[in-house]
Amino acid sequence: MSTEKAFHICVLPGDGIGVEVTTAAAAVLEATQTYSGGFALTLEHHVAGAGAYRETGIAMSDEAWRAAEDADAIFLGAMGLPDIRFDDGTEIAPQLDLRFKFNLYAGVRPVSAKRGGARMLSDPRAENIDFVLVRESTEGLFASRGKGEVLGDREARDTMVITRQTSERLFAFAFDQARRRKASSHSNKVTLVDKSNVFVSMAFFRKVFDEVAGTNPDIDAERVYIDACALDFIRRPWDFDVVVTENMFGDILSDLAAGLVGGMGFAPSADIGDERAVFQPAHGSAPDIVGSGRANPTAAILSAAMMLDWLGHRHGVSQCLDAAKLIDKAVEEVFFDGQVRTYDMGGTSSTADLTDAVIEKIKGSQGK
Ligand code: ATP
Repeated sequence: MSTEKAFHICVLPGDGIGVEVTTAAAAVLEATQTYSGGFALTLEHHVAGAGAYRETGIAMSDEAWRAAEDADAIFLGAMGLPDIRFDDGTEIAPQLDLRFKFNLYAGVRPVSAKRGGARMLSDPRAENIDFVLVRESTEGLFASRGKGEVLGDREARDTMVITRQTSERLFAFAFDQARRRKASSHSNKVTLVDKSNVFVSMAFFRKVFDEVAGTNPDIDAERVYIDACALDFIRRPWDFDVVVTENMFGDILSDLAAGLVGGMGFAPSADIGDERAVFQPAHGSAPDIVGSGRANPTAAILSAAMMLDWLGHRHGVSQCLDAAKLIDKAVEEVFFDGQVRTYDMGGTSSTADLTDAVIEKIKGSQGK
């Protein structure tokens, strides 16, 4: 492994609290590289999103696209504002364009009760919630984005697309995730979520899953329907390990899963392809709390840790892997101490309070 590696990060803070949580994540990244050593990050900020669209008529400039294309990784805050829309009523969402353009098919959303969020379930087993949702992010029902039709004000159509190529890569990615989690996971399985009892596209999705499962005999494979899965996310979420599903189902399930472990402020995510990846909190721009200091930066900070983990694996830089773990542990300890409680936990700690506490933990962990 190399001892010193420079990474160029394209940062797109976006709209609303996206800007606030990106500032928090950038401060944590800076502290981490100072105290970890072994790698250097250059963060290059670009304007994009609904605000940019309002100002210039363009949601993401050519310059920002080029910067994203050239970067080692992309970090995104949140994009979209409910009152700024295209003529067809849809929101401005360059984060979706990034997924499609860079073929970021694997949307990774870790769901863990260890990160401090108030748990919704009183069952003591809820302490053990720790799974990863892998949401296909380039096709499914979202393939219809921008292509749906309204026929004569009588009828509207959107089309679901499932391809063998993307599904194979997605499922291989999910089994790989399960293999990586093997040491820490209580069960070792991949759960496919579909609706193959109704839709031919979903039956095809399951057929490809079965084929890929057959080539991964060291990992258990299970299959559930989306409706049953929604119930199981409430009834026994601690039983899941890696959950893989179609784009639209994943969109819905990931918010449900975030709710189990404290809400959107605790939901990090990554959109990963074979060549590039975007890291962003799973939440939106939350205009209802923008400017109030109430945004919980945990999801953004943990997304930054995911970025270091991805860079570390991809480039063989062990210090990046260590730095990712350092951030995870710092966040866990801050919440364990109980002195910092963000607004979404019913507390009064601001975005800056939590960020400072995480940075203090990172500093304090040196020399231990
Ligand atoms: P999008 O469609 O863009 O994903 P959304 O409709 O899911 O957005 P969010 O912006 O994610 O909406 O916000 C949903 C709710 O969660 C809002 O009440 C918001 O204030 C809250 N919320 C979202 N993110 C955070 C955060 N980081 N900290 C605290 N509360 C948050």
